[in-house]
Order: sequence, then C-alpha cells, then structure tokens
Amino acid sequence: MAIRGGYRGRLLEVDLTERAVRAVPLPPEDVVRRWVGCAGLGLHLLSREVTPSMQPTDPECPLFILTGPLTGTLVPSSSNWTIVSLNGLVHYHVGISHGHGYWGARLKHAGWDGITVRGASSAPVYLWIDDDRVELRDAGQYWGLDTFETARRIQEDHRDPANISVACIGPAGENLVAGASVRSDGSFGASKGAPGIVWGAKKLKAIAVRGTGEVPVAEPDQMVELSEEWRQTLEASPKPPSKSGADGLLIMQGYAMNGRVMGKNLTDPEVAAEWGRHLAEDVPQWKLKPVGSWRCDIQCHSEGTITTGPMTGCPFRGYVGTVMEAMGPNLGITEPGVSVALARLLDASGLDCSEVPAVIAMLMEAYSKGLLTLEDTDGLDLQWGNYEAVIELLDRIVRREGIGATIAQGLRATAQQFGVGDMAVHIKGMGYTEHDPRVRGIPLVFQYILSGAGPARQVALTNSLPDLGLEGPTDLNDPAGKGEFVARSHALKMWQDTTGVCLLAAPASIKGMLGLEARAVRAAVGWEDFQAEEATLVGERIANLLRLLSLFRGHKPEFERDFSPRLVEPVPSGPARGRVGIGPHFASIREQYYRALGWDLRTGAPGLEALQRVGLADYPIGRQQTHRAPTKGTFSHGGRGDS
Ligand code: SF4
Repeated sequence: MAIRGGYRGRLLEVDLTERAVRAVPLPPEDVVRRWVGCAGLGLHLLSREVTPSMQPTDPECPLFILTGPLTGTLVPSSSNWTIVSLNGLVHYHVGISHGHGYWGARLKHAGWDGITVRGASSAPVYLWIDDDRVELRDAGQYWGLDTFETARRIQEDHRDPANISVACIGPAGENLVAGASVRSDGSFGASKGAPGIVWGAKKLKAIAVRGTGEVPVAEPDQMVELSEEWRQTLEASPKPPSKSGADGLLIMQGYAMNGRVMGKNLTDPEVAAEWGRHLAEDVPQWKLKPVGSWRCDIQCHSEGTITTGPMTGCPFRGYVGTVMEAMGPNLGITEPGVSVALARLLDASGLDCSEVPAVIAMLMEAYSKGLLTLEDTDGLDLQWGNYEAVIELLDRIVRREGIGATIAQGLRATAQQFGVGDMAVHIKGMGYTEHDPRVRGIPLVFQYILSGAGPARQVALTNSLPDLGLEGPTDLNDPAGKGEFVARSHALKMWQDTTGVCLLAAPASIKGMLGLEARAVRAAVGWEDFQAEEATLVGERIANLLRLLSLFRGHKPEFERDFSPRLVEPVPSGPARGRVGIGPHFASIREQYYRALGWDLRTGAPGLEALQRVGLADYPIGRQQTHRAPTKGTFSHGGRGDS
C-alpha cells in the first residue's frame, strides 16, 4: 500500500564539513510505517550510525530533525518537530527534544520531512531553506546574538519576517554550555538532552525556512471532518486546554498554592506559595496576549510586558510557566515580574530550564548555609532571591567566564568542584526542575528516572488512560500497579511523539483520543488498516529501542539509582506536607515496570519475547543486547495483561 500523503517523501541531507546539501528519499514505506516520524523515525536513523564511544560534540555525531505525518496538516496543534541526537549531558542516553511554533509546519510546506546534519563547519553557518532552494550561508554576523535577535535579524535580512521561521542556538549553544537548547519562532524551545551543544559543536547557528506548499493528504474530506471532530473533542473535554495569556500564567498560581511549585531548591514550599500569591495580584495588571503554534487554539505561550515591580517595562514572550518557576521561587525569588524577566533571559541565552537553574539553586542553597563564600563565587552574593546576582551569573555562564566556566560544565561537575553534591537536585547528574515531583505523584518522577532520554518527560500527561483500559481515579502515591501504569503511559507517549501533533492537544485522558490519532494517520497517509492497536505497538517498539540504545551506550542497572534523594522523599512542609514520596517503593515499582515491558528484572534489558512482539528481535543493536526475560510482556490493547 503506497504512501499517498502525510509525508513529502524526502529528507534534506546536510554535510557541514563538505558544505554540501542534497535531497534523499524518505526510507522505504515498511520502515516509515514501523517508526512513523518525529522521535520514532529519528531514533531509528540514529541507531544506524551511533557507536558506544561517540560524543555529542564529535563531527561524526549525526543530528536528525524530523517531522511527523500530521505535522503541518489541518489537525489541531500539528506543529511538532523533533531533534534526535546523542544526549549532550548523559553519555549513555540519547537526546530527544520537541519543538513547536511554525518551524516544523513550514519545513513540511517547503517539501521536506526532515533534515539530517553530519560533519562540522569550520566557521559559523546557517541553513536557508526556501522550498526547493537550499543553501548553507555564512552566519558570522549572527554568531553571538541571542535567540530572539538571531531570528529577527535573519527574518529581516531575508525581507519576509511574516513567512520565515528560524530555529537557532544562542550564546549558550555556541559556547557548548550544559543545558544549551535550540529555540524557534522566538518563543518555542527544543531543550531536553541539550541539543544546543550538538548544534554549537557543528557551528550550526540556525536553520531558517520558508515553505509555500501544502502537505498532501490521502483522504482530504476525511481529514477535514476528523480535524473538526478533534477540535470539538478538545473543546468538550471536562478540562479543555485553556488559552494562555493571563489565564495561562495564573495556572501556576494554583500549582503554587497546592505545593506543586519548587521553592528554594525543593527546601521551601512556602516561598513558592508566597510567589503564587503575588502572581495572582500582578499578572492581571500586565498587558498579555496568548501566542500559539501552527493551527493551535490552545496557545500555551504568552507575549506581553511586565508592568509591576523592578522589571516594569520588560517585554517577554514564551512559555513562561515552568521556566519562571525554575528562575523564580526555585531561586527564592517571590517577585513574579522578576521571575518572568529571568525566564526570558534564559530563553534568549538559549538555555533550557533544567540544568543551569538547578546549578544556581544548588549554589544559592550552599551559600545560604555558609558553605560557600564570596571568594568561592567570584564575588557574587548568591543569597536566596538576589536576582541581580543571578543576572550577572547567567552572563558569566554563557561566556564561560570565572565561576561561569565551572557552571557551564553542568550540575554534576559544579557540585563536585564545590563539594556540595548533596544539594544537587538531579537525575543521573542532570538538573531537574519541572514542578515538585513529590507532589505530582509516582508516574512523572518515576519515568523521569527511567527515561532512555535522560530526565525528560516520557509519560502521557494524565493519571488515567481510558483508551488502554486504565481509568482513574488513582491514589498517586500508592505504589500498587504504578509500574505497569507508567510502562503503558510511557509507550503511549512514545507513540504520540511520532505523529507531529503537540502533546497538549492529544490528552490521553480523553477516551477515544488514540482512535482519533490513528484515524488521522489513516486519512493523511492512506494506510487504510492503521488502527489504534498498531499505534500502541509503535509506541512500545520505540520504548524498547530507547532502552536498547541506552544499553548499547553503556547503561548499567545501578545508574537508575543515580538521582537526588530529595526528589523522592516525603514532602517535609507546605500545602502538600505528608505526601509519601517514591523512595521506599522504587525497587518494587521498577520490577512492575520491567515485568510489564517484558524486560529482564536484573539487567533491565528487553527480553527476546518482548523484542519479538515489537518486531525488534533481529534489529542490529538489539541482537547485542537481548536477554531472555523471565516474564512475558503484558502489553495488550484494552488494558488486559497475560502475565
Ligand atoms: S499547546 Fe502550546 S506548544 Fe502545543 S502547539 Fe499549542 S502553542 Fe504550541
């Protein structure tokens, strides 16, 4: 059955060493159907080239930027594009980061399903894609600019700001700073796994794209009909995704009041609650409007100007939610305008909200306890809440100057240098800052720990999975059944990471969403027999490949214990006081998880039967990692297992 739509049928291959570009066909249909797109196809392509010793900064380290079959179509929020490469911070994991905005849709509209980048340039370059016309151009004039300014200048230089999307790195990526991200369309970040380091090592400053075509679809009438049904389904859901602007920011106030916001490096929920109270007072006074991505009504980003506090007059644009938490109450800052301004500074530098904020929070805690002095901090007074010191420190970090050069190496290296490792809130040495994981319950933090992409969100954003027969409500802190739940949620998320639709527009809590996604792929591509069962199998296949890749790169079972105890301890104070934490249950939940996936209980390696079920028994890197697991896998569509 031929592909009749959804894909553009070709990838753009870029060799930066040779300064050459060429079009190559998309892999054969049977390969595409097994991996679909975005993270799935990217991981498959990566697995063919990766070696155990390859480093993310090596010229031969490949970089894959993929869309999915639904990216750029009529489907709501079909904006996803994904960067897959080696993880810039954890050697034994891959890096997967998702971007939104208009960049991915424009790449598809220009006629490309994705880009592969190999080699490294001797001088800064950017890639200019104008439909079929593709060129590598000198980027010397943009090197050193922040992410907002880089995009603005490139758009202006091409005299078409309204129709050009720019994905780029900032000074942090150029200087290979730990946690460096890629940002597109001004406000959207692709951050997890520090892809900015890979771009920076290749001296790839930006990829600018203008696309004037459309994504062909196999069944246009069906596509129109189901896209409208999808939109109405979201609208009718009990918790419809809300528009951002003031409403979006105020969601964080609710989180702060119930203890979900990180305060002072997870030591003080009260400071987060105070920040939340100020947020409720200040945000309604700010001039805000929502910002969205391609065909997105949710519009989870905001644009506006701060009109309260010391940052009055400061403009901002972006998904400030988690970022302002990381750069606000997590650093003891209770002034909302300051936290938003610092979030913008982080985005402009091209840094994600996990690594560098976690280092700063750790140093502030150590400083407040008298374990570090002004001499240690190059004269910076790192007491909690001192935002002026944070601004100065950020500048030194992206320039790798003084203490900034130490922090630029990452959380683990900085903790070791200063001897303050017990204050590092980390998973596998990487920073963790995405709401208090103890309050959000077992699924999220557990998958952050087990993820084959380093500490990154790898579960569906819900605590019930009606399409898999796992319906809430559930006690988030009760370990019973949580391992299997997380395994199934992980596989579902892996499927969702292939299609090209934003996760926020495909809530797994809505019954029938999985079927809608499968129908959309059918209508777009023309695979008439593509059903929800195949979708979940794709997700499970990717979950197994992620683990195979980690093992291939040297993952050991004991590495799963490499995380900050603080993340899994009971909540000591604040509104969520008494939440039990995952700590005592970790081993039993991990065993459930392995059983559910059919992985070896001792080594965590996928068992032969699990690999056979997902069609990876003969997969090249799978053959080297396979162990016969003691249990059969229990995945089966509809929620019934066979263990
Ligand atoms: S929900 Fe947010 S990230 Fe997702 S497509 Fe919409 S604006 Fe983009």
